[in-house]
Amino acid sequence: MKFRFQIILLLFLSLTVAYSQEYIPSYDAVVNQSTQANITARLTEFQNLGVKRRGTAALQNTLDWLKSQYLSYGYTASQMEEDTYSYSGFTCKNLVLTKVGTLYPNTYVIVCGHYDTISGTGTNDNGSGTAIILEIARLLQNIPTEYSIKFINFSGEEDGLRGSQHFVTNVVNATTPKMDIRVVFNIDEVGGVAGEINDTITCDVDESLPMANNAASAVITEELATCVALYSPLNTWINFAEATDYIPFENNGEIITGFYETNISSHPHTPSDNLANMDPEFCFNVGKAAIGATMHFAIANASALDNQYFNEDAQVSFFPNPSKSILNINKGNLNDANYTFSIIDIHGKTVLNQFFTDTGLIETINVSDLGSGIYLGVLETATNRITKKVIIQ
Ligand SMILES: [Zn+2]
Repeated sequence: MKFRFQIILLLFLSLTVAYSQEYIPSYDAVVNQSTQANITARLTEFQNLGVKRRGTAALQNTLDWLKSQYLSYGYTASQMEEDTYSYSGFTCKNLVLTKVGTLYPNTYVIVCGHYDTISGTGTNDNGSGTAIILEIARLLQNIPTEYSIKFINFSGEEDGLRGSQHFVTNVVNATTPKMDIRVVFNIDEVGGVAGEINDTITCDVDESLPMANNAASAVITEELATCVALYSPLNTWINFAEATDYIPFENNGEIITGFYETNISSHPHTPSDNLANMDPEFCFNVGKAAIGATMHFAIANASALDNQYFNEDAQVSFFPNPSKSILNINKGNLNDANYTFSIIDIHGKTVLNQFFTDTGLIETINVSDLGSGIYLGVLETATNRITKKVIIQ
């Protein structure tokens, strides 16, 4: 009875916030590019990679598989970073894929889930989340988003959230200024249970200490539930956060939400956590909701025109714009290691010119010597020349 009351309450809450979250047909068009075949193929590949415990070749092979997947979607090696740590004498790696936002490049939507397993191939826990993260990344590769997205595949979750804790301590808090996070959206164990009716996804809300970030988590989790209703056939159930990778972020004061299966499988952490004991159609439907939610959180611009300009410019951007002192050069999905960046004034005179070698995704240049005004920033490689207006204040 309590169950039913909470669902009615949830429906009411969903309706009260729905005004800010309209159905966006262009989002649905992207969601509908997801396929059951893709999800099932990724789940099968994940399963075939074996038991992904710390220190195993299977864990490293899974990391390599993730990288090859992202590359096949059009992301570049420069967009991928390994966050490495050691635990119990073994080297473990998180994989972080960054897609730079067009309007708020320094504010991140984190879409994450673990890829390590214990005692089994972990096809549900957490091949399911892994397959969905890959599907979101695949479909959003050529779509501009206002906020930056970090797709993170954590290791060490089964060792006690080691990977996500390392990322929070050594990346989020070690960045100057501290990394600005809009929301952490974790996807863990969403494979469903074979033979059961899997028609409801649990949306995880922060109800634990510290309390300061709980209200914001409630709001974002309502938004997540609305995305489920808008972009998938599933029902929602809001429940408290589980012991998974958003917890180190939650303890750090970040706003968290996530997906977890509602019919909870008995197979995770055993050798029988495999596809035969799951409901791949449920996983596919959770994926649809997750794609819509990621587009909502990161504010995607899915119109054909926006996509065209974004990709004609190889997703390159220069920010902040206007700039006062430091200008960041985001090379988007260019594969070139070296490039020249120049700034040209309104008279056509080159006022700044620098050659960059062995570049990362983002390089910085000091523009504080330039007078305020409108300039052209030019990024030139052996095969590309991308020009954008730059304003110096
Ligand atoms: Zn898990």
